[in-house]
Amino acid sequence: MLRGMSAAHRSESNSVSPLRAVIFDWAGTVLDFGSLAPVRALQTLFAQAGVPISAAQARGPMGRAKRDHIADILALPDVAERWQAVHGSLPRTADLDRLFAEFLPLQLQTLTARATLIPGVLEMIGTLRERGIQIGSTTGYTAEMMAALRPLARAQGYEPAAVVTVSDVKAGRPAPWMALRCAEQLGVWPLSAICKVGDTVADVDEGRNAGMWTIAFARCGNELGLDESELLALPAEEQQARLSEARRRLQQAGAHLVIDGPAELPAALETLELRRRRGDRP
Ligand SMILES: [Mg+2]
Repeated sequence: MLRGMSAAHRSESNSVSPLRAVIFDWAGTVLDFGSLAPVRALQTLFAQAGVPISAAQARGPMGRAKRDHIADILALPDVAERWQAVHGSLPRTADLDRLFAEFLPLQLQTLTARATLIPGVLEMIGTLRERGIQIGSTTGYTAEMMAALRPLARAQGYEPAAVVTVSDVKAGRPAPWMALRCAEQLGVWPLSAICKVGDTVADVDEGRNAGMWTIAFARCGNELGLDESELLALPAEEQQARLSEARRRLQQAGAHLVIDGPAELPAALETLELRRRRGDRP
């Protein structure tokens, strides 16, 4: 039987419940508090190649497709110079190919060791589903990495209706293709009825480039970059300072809202809905 267009689809402004889908990132957003898995794998990778990198250098391009991420690190002047000193020439495409091949087993190891859901995720997802909001996801991880991670998330009760990886599209973040493919898989439009949620500047770029509302998690993600136990071990002032700095970077990237993490998302979506009713658009 053919179905006609719903009222919500005929006109955006007629929509009673504007936000109909949320697209979540994975590491640092729904699991792996602090997004440590990629950092540890990247630091091991570069140490093995004789060119150790700092956690900050590993975190800079976080959220990008992992091959692009490694290329971005190789392009850092400090890394390129030290690479040349150790290997006799500036990094070449063949070096990137070799590093990416070596990266996969390292990343598979660390991501399965860091697969615990971030506190509050299941409650957040439950609240969204009660509101009839669909759940999708995109990631800088490849299909192979997600094949290892998805069952571990599922076993803890988290299974989004759509999972799009960099392997499914021509280019990862900041390009909007994963988010757009995810919208298509969920069957949700207009794009202004969707909110992209992530923990990196690349996530914010992806959401904005896709024409979606964009919310960033500051406390549990890459921009703060600590496991919750490490964070709580810091003096309160230091915790606040790091959180402010993470919030500032995500705000500067253009997030519509920056919040601490999953527990605040349902209220943040209500704020966006109010803004939309007042005529704001992403
Ligand atoms: Mg992330």
